[in-house]
Amino acid sequence: MRNKVVKGLKELENLKDKKVFLRLDLNVPMKDGKILDDTRIREALPTIQYLIDQGCRVMIGSHLGRPKGNGAEDRKNFSLEPVASALVEKLKKEVVLIDSPDSDAPRGLLAEGKFDKILLLENLRFAKGEEANDNALAQKWAKLVDVYVNDAYGSCHRAHASIDALPRIVRVKASGFLLEKEIEMLAKVRNSPPTPFALVLGGSKVTDKIGVIENMINKIDVLMIGGAMAYTFMKAKGLMVGGSRVEAGKVDYAKELLKRFEARDKKVLLPIDHVIVKSLDAPAGRQTTKGADIEPGWMAVDIGPKTRELFQKELSNCKTIFWNGPMGVYEVPPFNEGSFAIAKAIAETEGFTVIGGGDSAAAAVESGYAPKFTHISTGGGASLEYMEGKDLPGILALEQ
Ligand code: ADP
Ligand code: MG
Repeated sequence: MRNKVVKGLKELENLKDKKVFLRLDLNVPMKDGKILDDTRIREALPTIQYLIDQGCRVMIGSHLGRPKGNGAEDRKNFSLEPVASALVEKLKKEVVLIDSPDSDAPRGLLAEGKFDKILLLENLRFAKGEEANDNALAQKWAKLVDVYVNDAYGSCHRAHASIDALPRIVRVKASGFLLEKEIEMLAKVRNSPPTPFALVLGGSKVTDKIGVIENMINKIDVLMIGGAMAYTFMKAKGLMVGGSRVEAGKVDYAKELLKRFEARDKKVLLPIDHVIVKSLDAPAGRQTTKGADIEPGWMAVDIGPKTRELFQKELSNCKTIFWNGPMGVYEVPPFNEGSFAIAKAIAETEGFTVIGGGDSAAAAVESGYAPKFTHISTGGGASLEYMEGKDLPGILALEQ
């Protein structure tokens, strides 16, 4: 095990008047210049406010969307200007948006006698070299500040200049409050989950989740599989899957995996009934199967009531539960009912419960049970990579 440590924000001392590069994930969903969901901005406020309260001179950097470059069209579509306005409103402070994220403009501003504002760099991806993890760009930013704080968990799996190269240069560095919590929670699941430990997987593809299963295999007491993933496993067991989604290239892998669990005397639970439709466009014609088999012409879009009960019973005994991937096509009600039932079952256990995955987190939030989970991870891709056993570049670069 590594013994290097990432400092938490509160471990940094003498912050008064220090110039801080604060990397946030303010990549909020936006339409026609309007913010559709400001969760990420709200969640970043405690870290920003703490730095302000310590008397820091804060310069915030974030990316937004996937601009191709720095052209007029991209600059218009991917500008952080709406985010700047939201920050003004929430922090009740002047926010200066720095037009070119790699310009020298912050130098003078950060050096002003009295500093009573926030600097926000424009979309970091407008800067040439950000995505290429360019050292020269990182050097430029490093020269402007004394301290680096990363609170952009959802971006930590990307080796970009503001996430990787920059904190390698800045000596005084720490994780923000959000990142600190993510590391603590996910490290506990990954390294020492209290047992019995259940891994609940769903979502669209087996391929996306193989890494997590493989990395966690020796710790899993029970693996529960729902969502489209389940049909590849059902096929591997010789069950009828009708027109449900199957990854043909992964059936053999699924067979082998089932054998490995059997050899270890550990359980794999698959759905024992399903909600099925002839077509997703005709949800009204849905039916529930009696057993596990699915007739030709039908596709499964959610786990059925017996499966919900089976999973719930098993979950109620578990001390740790990690859930990734919805149990059905939750975007189309009522095919969210299976996912909601699992959210409820997990929320009602006494155990340590974590969700990682954009869609599963969204399903949990919609179910209303999210507040009862120990932790809802905000970074889908980052959490999966972490659970695969990979070291995230953004976290490695923060280690002292
Ligand atoms: P997460 O974002 O939580 O990691 P994924 O992205 O892997 O989850 O999977 C989410 C997607 O899986 C959703 O779009 C959902 O519609 C799809 N899905 C779940 N169950 C089924 C199913 N039975 N058939 C087709 N798609 C499914
Ligand atoms: Mg997803």
